[in-house]
Amino acid sequence: MANSGQKVVLITGCSSGIGLRIAVTLARDEKERYYVIATMRDLKKKDKLLEAAGDAYGKTLTLLPLDVCSDESVRQCINNVKDRHIDILINNAGVGLLGPVESISIEDMKQVFETNFFGVVRMIKEVMPDMKKRRSGHIVVMSSVMGLQGVVFNDVYTASKFAMEGFCESMAVQLLKFNIRLSMIEPGPVHTEFETKMMENVAKMEYPGVDADTVRYFKDVYLPSSIDIFEAMGQTPDDIAKCTKKVIESNSPRFRNLTNSLYTPIVALKYADETGGLSVNTFYNLLFNFGPLMHITMSILKCLTCSCLRRRTVSPN
Ligand code: NDP
Repeated sequence: MANSGQKVVLITGCSSGIGLRIAVTLARDEKERYYVIATMRDLKKKDKLLEAAGDAYGKTLTLLPLDVCSDESVRQCINNVKDRHIDILINNAGVGLLGPVESISIEDMKQVFETNFFGVVRMIKEVMPDMKKRRSGHIVVMSSVMGLQGVVFNDVYTASKFAMEGFCESMAVQLLKFNIRLSMIEPGPVHTEFETKMMENVAKMEYPGVDADTVRYFKDVYLPSSIDIFEAMGQTPDDIAKCTKKVIESNSPRFRNLTNSLYTPIVALKYADETGGLSVNTFYNLLFNFGPLMHITMSILKCLTCSCLRRRTVSPN
């Protein structure tokens, strides 16, 4: 149980990746400022988390089952928290979806929205009334650079993160009136099982109803570029956990928090031209005209990213 001075943090999707790392980082805080409720939909997957948490388990870390796609599971989980008191809610659970839209069923698309969008809405609806009563709280949402900028062949995943950005941008104003902060974390690529799961799904894909040109663009142009981008720009789950810790420890937490300064110029393109032409054409050229130069482009971008851009991001260091 939490001490009186500790902040109670509930995190969704802690079986792997970023959620696992955030749970361990906060539970192992030197000053033991956090009491972490790490949740996952299948507690049979707890071993990796418990191994990483070490002796923090049972002290500053506890586990609860939670499926963000189930109203009942969300309600039960929050009812199991002492006095339903959560100081910091970290919405991390999420799923990806990659590939030509023609080959993806509407059911699969709905599942992405059910997790990435309605999962977050469900959690906020359950936790927010108690935070409002207490006039305090911090809600953190694991968004993505793809919540700010569309990315080819990630159409549905991007749409789910845009939906969440819109929802949270609207909510943030009301919540501020109740002294509740809302922060989006917007990582670029991160090396987790997310990437592996998507590549495994792609390997199994059969592309029904997709024309040969689109399949070729996806497999021979997009996928190699995407792997290049992950290699050149990828962060670690630990980087994202450190960024998230900084955000929750800030006296005036920012609403938007890009974690990777290499993405600042890409996101800036969108705001530099309100017609949208600049970003659409730049992405088109990067993918279809300069595809073979992508790797070099990524390296140059890395060198060119100056400290003024870094200041616009939340840095893990
Ligand atoms: P992982 O696949 O490693 O982790 C995703 C976690 O979400 C898993 O614990 C998974 O549980 C859980 N999850 C999925 N569906 C549900 C559900 N219905 N209820 C509860 N938990 C669920 O990926 P990441 O750590 O990379 O992803 C974490 C977040 O970061 C996601 O929101 C993702 O969109 C975002 N993100 C990831 C990036 C990346 O490149 N990796 C980049 C930008 C953002 P289970 O093991 O049961 O499937």
